Amino acid sequence: MISFDAIIIGAGQAGPSLAGRLTGAGMTTALVERKFFGGTCVNTGCMPTKTLVASAYAAHLARRAADYGVVLNGAPQIDMTRVKARADTVVNNARTGVEKRLRGMERCTVVQGHARFEGPDVIAVGDEQLSAPRIFINVGGRALVPDMAGVDQVPYLTNTTMLALDRVPRHLVVVGGSYVGLEFAQMFRRFGAEVTVVEKAPRLITREDGDVSDGIRTILEAEGIRVRTSAECIGLTPHEEGVAVSVNCQEGPPEAVGSDVLLAVGRRPNTDDLALDRAGVAADARGYITVDDTLATNVPGIWALGDCNGRGAFTHTAYNDFEIIAANLLDGDNRKVSARVPCYALYTDPPLGRVGMTEAQARETGRPLLTSTRPMTRVGRAVEKGETQGFMKVVADAETRKILGAAILGTGGDEAIHGVLDIMNAGVSLDVLRWAVPIHPTVSELIPTLLLDLKPE
Ligand SMILES: Cc1cc2nc3c(=O)[nH]c(=O)nc-3n(C[C@H](O)[C@H](O)[C@H](O)COP(=O)(O)OP(=O)(O)OC[C@H]3O[C@@H](n4cnc5c(N)ncnc54)[C@H](O)[C@@H]3O)c2cc1C
Repeated sequence: MISFDAIIIGAGQAGPSLAGRLTGAGMTTALVERKFFGGTCVNTGCMPTKTLVASAYAAHLARRAADYGVVLNGAPQIDMTRVKARADTVVNNARTGVEKRLRGMERCTVVQGHARFEGPDVIAVGDEQLSAPRIFINVGGRALVPDMAGVDQVPYLTNTTMLALDRVPRHLVVVGGSYVGLEFAQMFRRFGAEVTVVEKAPRLITREDGDVSDGIRTILEAEGIRVRTSAECIGLTPHEEGVAVSVNCQEGPPEAVGSDVLLAVGRRPNTDDLALDRAGVAADARGYITVDDTLATNVPGIWALGDCNGRGAFTHTAYNDFEIIAANLLDGDNRKVSARVPCYALYTDPPLGRVGMTEAQARETGRPLLTSTRPMTRVGRAVEKGETQGFMKVVADAETRKILGAAILGTGGDEAIHGVLDIMNAGVSLDVLRWAVPIHPTVSELIPTLLLDLKPE
């Protein structure tokens, strides 16, 4: 048995930074990683996908070159081997960087292998036993393979295996019309595949407002992506051309036949193989570890950070979990998860930047509301760039004059949304922006205007 002051399970988005703070505070820390340093974001999530999105954008812009008066000799070609190599390089550099940082960290012991609890302060990694009075679980999640008919009879792709493709599928059927599925759908359409998106719900990304879902659907369909919604009973069968996905939609053919199928129907936490019961750590029915507002589990001395606690599903939320724990344990602070303003982006092109409540959620509060919407056709920067799809909208509380939420579906939306996010984080009235002088020409410059245009519902 080797004893440490702290053990961290998982080198994802919270673990390595936490190791830095704990060791910096003089604690001996073991960090256990079973696979790739950097976790999902670095290896199979944000970094490779956004690198591929950049290649897909280059292809799209090249196809539109004539719109800008740029003459190319012939249609652009996709070299998928080089597209993949570019993503691999970005991933490998980041992964190596995380590993190097950890291995060079004073008082940090890197242990490679799968960690399992033996008790509330003991974990086993292979034949080794490690103990510590503080254990931090940062095990993340993986693609959920749904229990749908025929799933064991056909080859299928997940967000991880998609990244190993060095060919463009002839026809990619994406099961799941949400964040992960839509990013892959658009990028592979731009790489030259036929793409069909099959979604169980009546519209894409149902967590968003109807106008946002519809806006995204319009953007995707304009690029030739077929969208089949209300696919209430999805099943997979082998087909001579690849895979047939039975769709059972009320409209259109009963199945979508593709050469390849991507299952993008959600994620599940990596907690089923942690032996949580041996430590007495509670989890919910879906396996997410139950934590309080400071990320402490029900067992004193054990905390859970990142995707595995179900309180966030993003790199920035995992990282913020690290910040909360470090501030509370090491700086005598009193940070809470509930103080976090929800925010994220969908990296289609144009992207969707989101913060706070949807309009539907704001309505459910029963508060008097103010709303304002502006199409991207009325944003100078978008017009100049020739990228006028989408719109921006904001919803505010009419009495407190605080912003409740916003969406920017449009060019630069992932960046410009921070203008709203910062006001929400500051907790100030929207009137604070009345005399702000934003930079022209930007998408962000329209945020004060959007706020000045707020009207009662
Ligand atoms: C396709 C895709 C695209 C995404 N794009 C974005 C994006 O653009 N922006 C964004 O914010 N988020 C994005 N995400 C989500 C983001 O990747 C995750 O929210 C983030 O990685 C969560 O970090 P984490 O630290 O909780 O866990 P992870 O990054 O998953 O790290 C967990 C680590 O724990 C290790 N581990 C697990 N179990 C054990 C064990 N028993 N013993 C030892 N080690 C173990 C794993 O190997 C892994 O390295 C994307 C996700 C996907 C799938």
